[in-house]
Amino acid sequence: MSAMNEQSRAAARAVDEARLWRRMMDMARFGATPAGGVNRAAFSPEDIQARKLLIEWAAEFGFSTASDEIGNLYVRRAGTTDEAPAVTGSHLDSQPKGGKFDGAYGVVGGFEALEAIERAGVETRRPIEVVAWSNEEGGRFQPGAMGSAVFAGDFALEDALMAVDTNGVVLRDALRETLDSTPAMARRDMPHAMAGYVEAHIEQGPRLENDNLTIGVVSGVQGLCWYRVEVFGAEAHAGTAPLKGRKDALKSAVTMVAALEQLMADESDTVRFTVGRFECDPGAPSTVPGHVLFTVDFRHPDLATFVDLGGRIKGVCEANARGSEVTVERIIYSEPVVFDAGVIDLVRGAARALDLPHMEMVSGAGHDAMHIAGLCPAGMIFVPCEKGLSHNEAESASAPDLAAGARVLAACLVGLANR
Ligand SMILES: [Zn+2]
Repeated sequence: MSAMNEQSRAAARAVDEARLWRRMMDMARFGATPAGGVNRAAFSPEDIQARKLLIEWAAEFGFSTASDEIGNLYVRRAGTTDEAPAVTGSHLDSQPKGGKFDGAYGVVGGFEALEAIERAGVETRRPIEVVAWSNEEGGRFQPGAMGSAVFAGDFALEDALMAVDTNGVVLRDALRETLDSTPAMARRDMPHAMAGYVEAHIEQGPRLENDNLTIGVVSGVQGLCWYRVEVFGAEAHAGTAPLKGRKDALKSAVTMVAALEQLMADESDTVRFTVGRFECDPGAPSTVPGHVLFTVDFRHPDLATFVDLGGRIKGVCEANARGSEVTVERIIYSEPVVFDAGVIDLVRGAARALDLPHMEMVSGAGHDAMHIAGLCPAGMIFVPCEKGLSHNEAESASAPDLAAGARVLAACLVGLANR
């Protein structure tokens, strides 16, 4: 690995820990909850306030701003040419009971990197951009990661615009209000070319903290699929129906789950297998259950294993139906994403050059970078979060760790913008 060049080093040095922390706290005021978390739904008044604050920061430095048809918000620092930009970003929306750092760090830390590059007087050939992708969490409008998915062409804009929240508000209207709140902003086409993408994010898991490390060099995102399994038996009287002739949907379902547990057995503890919902009808003590619904959430980082194990779920359920009928429906399928080797090297090289303890890791959670990885070389930088807690109002991260991540990010952006 070649040593980091002087421009990248200067940009990293110009990252200011106190300024970044202050900005994180300023952003966290919008949608602040009494328990110290954040409730900032996509296209809500709080989301609009957060966007306006980012636009204000950009204006201070003369960085231009733009948005596209799904409301993704871009802040651009010009390069010496108009070639495709080096891009970073994440999301400003939160879970209903979310924390201050999930998503917001990737945008605010991205802006800190941009400011550092500016203050260090580093010129880059390509422009550098920070993006706030719309509606990553999917708490108000489904599906999540909507802004990046629509941008990448993985989800149709027309379908996104028709999403409806639980109050009956149509996304198209909430988005129009959001865009009208910043009327002067330029509009961009989707997708436009990007030279590379690096997203900074809190880890949302405990590994960095447990190993006393500062930087996660993210090599990819594990694959995820969801199945909805329905078991149909026959209701009968618990006192009179002989055991032998019964079609007990619960006993069938329990046998299926036990068989799936065996299928998913994994010494290396890489497989993630969860039955998170299990409903039994009619749920009366003296009636043989006639119907069970359960879900399977299965995740794995390796494509071959993901396809193999995921593909056997239906057969295992059918083979263990014990006289009941079973239907297995796949409702989500997202294959593992492997990030670009060059971007992974860039992140690792920056962490090494800045003397930051680091490890390579696969993301357990989904991120906007998954969709952007289909368009240009992409990668991610993780920083530790306290006790691995996320999607929780108590979510926390340290100012030095956040600054370290922003330093790595600044160095990587300069690298991407000059290659
Ligand atoms: Zn996030």
